[in-house]
Formats: sequence, C-alpha cells, structure tokens
Amino acid sequence: MPSSLLEVCPACGRRQFTAETILWPELLDDWKLSPGEVDYINLQQGFSCVSCKNNLRSMTLAAAVTRAFGFDGSLEHLCARNSAIRQLTVIEMNP
Ligand SMILES: [Zn+2]
Repeated sequence: MPSSLLEVCPACGRRQFTAETILWPELLDDWKLSPGEVDYINLQQGFSCVSCKNNLRSMTLAAAVTRAFGFDGSLEHLCARNSAIRQLTVIEMNP
C-alpha cells in the first residue's frame, strides 16, 4: 500500500490510515480477477482512515464536496464552519 496515498483524511482531517486486504481467496477464484483488479478493489475498499473509518471511496467523495465549495480543509471542518452545507441533502447509495 502506498504510504503517500493521502497525507490528510479529506473527511476528518486526521493523518493516520490503515490498509486491509478485503478480498478473500475463494472470492478471487470465483470472480477470476486479475492482480491489477484485486489491488484496485483492495485499495478502494480496504484503505481507510483510522479515526473516522471512511474508506478511500468515501474519502474521495468528501474531497469532491469540499472542492465543490472551494474549501481547502476537511469535510468535518467545512460542515462546522458553513451552515449552508447543513441544508444540503446527500444521497448515499451504500451506507
Ligand atoms: Zn478521517
């Protein structure tokens, strides 16, 4: 796992991450994934923030929201400082 993938969590602003292998051998056999696909899915779903537990996919969504508001900090700080964002509705397909 690349340690330089993220320096700061876009969701909470903390700096500690963990990486877990989430695909198990039987599933790999069933799905017949290539090594590159396995690495991609393990990174997308298994790399997460130790503090807020968001995985890379969710952290990417948090970064997209902060950038849409032109905010340079975490989503947590954006929500704390911007009352207008609390009026937004977010559709989360995979809670
Ligand atoms: Zn976090």
